[in-house]
Amino acid sequence: MIIVMLGAPGTGKGTVGNLLSREFNIPHISSGEIFRSYIKKDEKLGKKIEEYVSVGALVPDELTIEILKARFEEDDTVNGFVLDGFPRTIKQAEYLDELLKKEDKKINVVVDLSLSDDEIVDRITKRRTCPNPDCREIYNLDFKRPKVDGICDRCGSKLIIREDDNEETIRKRLLNYHNISEGLINYYKEKDILYTVKLNNESNRVSSDVAIEIKDYLNKIKNV
Ligand code: AMP
Repeated sequence: MIIVMLGAPGTGKGTVGNLLSREFNIPHISSGEIFRSYIKKDEKLGKKIEEYVSVGALVPDELTIEILKARFEEDDTVNGFVLDGFPRTIKQAEYLDELLKKEDKKINVVVDLSLSDDEIVDRITKRRTCPNPDCREIYNLDFKRPKVDGICDRCGSKLIIREDDNEETIRKRLLNYHNISEGLINYYKEKDILYTVKLNNESNRVSSDVAIEIKDYLNKIKNV
């Protein structure tokens, strides 16, 4: 099963991606997470990546592809994966298609989570993240509060506010997202594998409902 999650930062694609990864027992590959771990551990490459991530700019395609390529070669990807944050450009999408073609695989669905910019800013500034790489649970102070303030329900780690989760950086990331997403959405629309989920903050639709909707859709297309 190969699932690509699209959607601006803050639409819940990380949470939905995590749920789908557990449901299908495939790894959740988040390019943002991979970059953040490089920033933490890899002196030289990490510094280079940080120059882009810290200002909300896209990491150049060549570097992104090089880093993701190494991740796709790991053993746990044999039965597929949920991609979150990659591809972000047509060049990255074309690279992914080529890679999958070589292995006689294809993307099952590209999920587009759609939410207005103002609602996204509201959501992200209230987002709290578990920094534990084996957990990575995401909370929201409005609609998914942890049971104990500031502490992850699942693993007990102290929750953090991601460095790039501030309004200025979010607006920049949204601008980036809109600049590139239209092309990417059309790219997958033309391939007839795009599935759009329209969200709004009022409906209070939690990520688990969205994940169930996607799972049902995948079961449906499998039976067609
Ligand atoms: P995310 O956690 O997906 O919001 O990503 C955080 C940051 O990592 C982004 O704002 C970009 O700077 C960088 N990034 C993540 N994925 C990509 C990608 N596929 N291509 C380029 N830059 C990326």
